[in-house]
Amino acid sequence: MSVLQLTISGLREELQAQRTSAVAVTRRCIERIDNTDDQLNTFVSRCDDSAFQDATAADVRLSAGKAATLTGIPLGLKDIFSTKGLRTTCGSKILANYVPVYDATVVERLREQGAVIVGKLNMDEFAMGSSNESSAAGVCRNPWDTNHVPGGSSGGSAVAVAAGQVVAALGTDTGGSIRQPAAHCGVVGLKPTYGRVSRYGVIAYASSLDQVGPITRTVEDCALLLEAIAGYDPCDSTSVDCPVPDYQASLRDGVAGKKIGLPQEYFIAGLDPAVKAAVDAAVEVYRGLGAELVPVSLPHTDYSVACYYLIATAEASSNLARYDGVRFGVRHCTGGGLIDMYQQTRSAGFGAEVKRRIMLGTYALSSGYYDAYYLKAQKVRTLIRQDFLKAFEQVDLLLTPVAPTAAFKIGEKMDDPLQMYLSDIFTIPANLAGTCAMSIPCGFDAAGLPIGLQLIGKPFGEEEMLQAAWAFEQATDWHTCRPTL
Ligand code: GLN
Repeated sequence: MSVLQLTISGLREELQAQRTSAVAVTRRCIERIDNTDDQLNTFVSRCDDSAFQDATAADVRLSAGKAATLTGIPLGLKDIFSTKGLRTTCGSKILANYVPVYDATVVERLREQGAVIVGKLNMDEFAMGSSNESSAAGVCRNPWDTNHVPGGSSGGSAVAVAAGQVVAALGTDTGGSIRQPAAHCGVVGLKPTYGRVSRYGVIAYASSLDQVGPITRTVEDCALLLEAIAGYDPCDSTSVDCPVPDYQASLRDGVAGKKIGLPQEYFIAGLDPAVKAAVDAAVEVYRGLGAELVPVSLPHTDYSVACYYLIATAEASSNLARYDGVRFGVRHCTGGGLIDMYQQTRSAGFGAEVKRRIMLGTYALSSGYYDAYYLKAQKVRTLIRQDFLKAFEQVDLLLTPVAPTAAFKIGEKMDDPLQMYLSDIFTIPANLAGTCAMSIPCGFDAAGLPIGLQLIGKPFGEEEMLQAAWAFEQATDWHTCRPTL
């Protein structure tokens, strides 16, 4: 089977039956990376040696019959996850030399299962962006057309999965950073409910919004990887202590009789006709599967982007205060005192988008403006959350586009931050509401670029959302399409 089609579920069987070995699969992924990464620029750091060590250990475990789901599966990690002994830059010059002394909880959970970590993946600097263009490591390219962006901020994670460099990857999603690149690269991406997955050891952008989630080739893989990373962690006080369901067990339960809401505010004028057509066709697929599609309203949707860019930047300005040249990363100092050192370090270390957001956030939090901006945005956030909770009194799930257009060209929106921010108009609300949402492939535009369908579930309703995603995937074959490189 082509390396482009390998899945966790398929490989797990092959590995456990010893028809292939973890070392052999890892070698195939590494060869694929060698052959494609010049074109794609997906990896910020590779760790081939430790990957082969992981694989060798996995093979021992497999032959002892002690394998877990992920034993021997080659995975990639967004460069935002702390990895012990492995450089973690978060896409920034300021962390160019940062080597963590511990693993993030999610990384620890993957390692406990015996997964093979292949390397660290490109991303927008500090996860701020929708195109991967703000990365200090340079843009990473869309495998369907390398003149186009892969989406962001988890662009490298989506590209690595779409291009067959790894079997699956982890990303983070603060305003759409898993779902939007997954949509743009034709793969599956899931943002769990806030609190479902530990954020311990994940470099913070906006702490009340950040969540970790899987990017995979199939819905089943997404269920398996989510189950591996989900659950309470005493090291993250926002992780919720409630049992993790067996997501895979209930995948086949179908959508007959389910009520799926179509929020009218998401089917707006700026929506690209090809995206609209693909989403309309998906609605018909669900109707054919026995679901009931009903119109709903999320009346405060219009305020989401403004609300997000106040809250996210405010939290970022506070989180990024720690990069001062003292404890973490690179220090720049050409003389002067302590304040000069801070100034030189931060001026040289942060890129333009990160600086813009630190300034916006600092302003929104400053005395005299706090009530007018930050506090007001928090109140609007509550209204947005209430819109979702009200909608979920009537329906089981919501169905929307992931992004207004397919992947745009590299450079197209770099001079216009507002246009860039608007590419997250359909993904941001679920983060503000704290609920779960995912992206699944649902078609292509005329240029052959993938289009994503978004399903939004109830808080902690990942199980029901994955069932609906699986039903769609079985009824269509978009998820089997792969880019040629
Ligand atoms: N694109 C959005 C932003 O720039 C979302 C990023 C994210 O989810 N990390 O903030």
